[in-house]
Amino acid sequence: MTDILLLPKGLLKRAAVKAIDLIYPRRCPVCDEPAPAGEEICLSCMKSLKALKYPWCDKCGKKLNSGTGICSDCERKAHSFARCRSVFEYPCISGAIYRFKYLGRREYASCFARCSVKILGDYISVVNPDMIACVPLSKGKMLKRGYNQAQDLAEELSKVINVPFCPAAVRRIRNTSPMKLLSPAQRQKNLKNAFKSGQNVVKSKRILLVDDIYTTGATMDAVSSALLEAGAESVYCMTLASGAGI
Ligand SMILES: [Zn+2]
Ligand SMILES: [Zn+2]
Repeated sequence: MTDILLLPKGLLKRAAVKAIDLIYPRRCPVCDEPAPAGEEICLSCMKSLKALKYPWCDKCGKKLNSGTGICSDCERKAHSFARCRSVFEYPCISGAIYRFKYLGRREYASCFARCSVKILGDYISVVNPDMIACVPLSKGKMLKRGYNQAQDLAEELSKVINVPFCPAAVRRIRNTSPMKLLSPAQRQKNLKNAFKSGQNVVKSKRILLVDDIYTTGATMDAVSSALLEAGAESVYCMTLASGAGI
């Protein structure tokens, strides 16, 4: 016991992580099988991943099939966030995000955070955020699911880029209907006044807002509006994936 106490803290932590890895092998987020030793993602799965590459929409970050500039959605509707960028094209990571969100695979968060920085490092550097925030869950959903995957991702990202994560930056103050079957206009109405941000925490801050998926941007807009109303300087968004028809 005395010998263990004499070991440096970092060494103990690494040994503990190794022991946990032996008992509960880390799973590759893409295929959900135990990952090869020392790796987070299998080599073959790595090849199947598609980072969302240029051309993307200059505003919402969605992949553009042709041309450059902004997408037709952003031409029709102004957003309250400054810009959004996504790490992956949706289809290649959809299963992983589903397990991360609904099946308790919270351990994917650290791998996703590292992928985010690897692929969106330049964007994050330019944004130069003072603070990370995430899209909050309602109390009911939080009780049912037990965790918020966007918060897990934001916490891990905070560790990787060394920018503070503020879970209290924005709260969901009203329950909303599930968004999946709603039109863009219905989504916007559904989210009206659903979020509230605390002035003291976000005032004059450049905020990086994190979520798992970008669809119409209605949620990002509603949360960004709450942050800006509370005095945030600017809100830039980042999601793991975006794509049409999600
Ligand atoms: Zn795999
Ligand atoms: Zn767009």
